[in-house]
Amino acid sequence: MEQADVLFSEHMENIQQQGGVFDEEGSHRPHAAALGDEFPEIRSFLARSDKNNPYDTNSDPRMAVKISMNIGATQVEIYADPAEPANLQEQRVMQIADAVSRVHDAGFKIPSPMQFYLPKYTRGIHLPSLKVDNSWNSLAEFYAPNRIMLSPELLRTFIPPNAPDSVALRLKNASAPIVHEIGHCLHFAQAPESYSDLFHTRLARQYERTAGEVSEYGARNPNEFVAETFTAVTFKGVITRDQWNLYQALGGPLSARQAPTPTIGRTLAQNSNLSVVEHRTAGAAARMQPAVGRLPDAAASAPSSWNRRNHEVERPHFRRK
Ligand SMILES: [Zn+2]
Repeated sequence: MEQADVLFSEHMENIQQQGGVFDEEGSHRPHAAALGDEFPEIRSFLARSDKNNPYDTNSDPRMAVKISMNIGATQVEIYADPAEPANLQEQRVMQIADAVSRVHDAGFKIPSPMQFYLPKYTRGIHLPSLKVDNSWNSLAEFYAPNRIMLSPELLRTFIPPNAPDSVALRLKNASAPIVHEIGHCLHFAQAPESYSDLFHTRLARQYERTAGEVSEYGARNPNEFVAETFTAVTFKGVITRDQWNLYQALGGPLSARQAPTPTIGRTLAQNSNLSVVEHRTAGAAARMQPAVGRLPDAAASAPSSWNRRNHEVERPHFRRK
């Protein structure tokens, strides 16, 4: 948690220093509005209070507006930029409310309070070149024990063709990446030791294959597999018995309807070759990264391919013997 705290401050600082939209020609660019689907931040920029200013950045985080709401037994605290246009801020708040409600409705216990941070800009966008400085390089990120930072990029309606294949991408639902991060949060809450250990762990090949069938993103490491499976389960997707067994073994969050099985984690650890492959910070692995490199199946993964597998799989809520 100390490490997560340091990372959070570090990321917040980078976002403060580099986030914004900078019009290097200082000219009126009416066609910039057309870029709003891919760069939602440009909508904030065009609505900035001082139109003579060729750039717009985040407000001082100490001035953040706190929006509170109760969803189930969870108090949701949202910290938003007071200078963000109201309609954009509302959309972002609705995405959070939808995500938390879905997790709640799926029967999961959510830590309270749960905090969400919504910087107006999480990257630097330069006009007219559209050169992007990635000060943070994430769409959404969880910091233990209860903080989630969200990029305004989640408002985009245009998905880049090189976006990594993930459950969220397949669902084409803007709340899904938030559900994914809540998955990390609940994983940490339910099995903090397992969650921390898994940052230094890689899936053995047979399990990597099982995880890859949830999504390519899920095959990256055990924690991403858990968060991806959690997202699929929350959205009532179907997963295979192998995926469910692996999810449980790794300490994946269980809903009130699913009895915990505390011994199963030991079984996996003893039976498989979980080796330490790399040492990196918890936050570095937990972030959901935007498009990096080319992933061949990303564009082809339509929701239909998710459904097509359904006939040979079963729901996660099956009865255990
Ligand atoms: Zn993740």
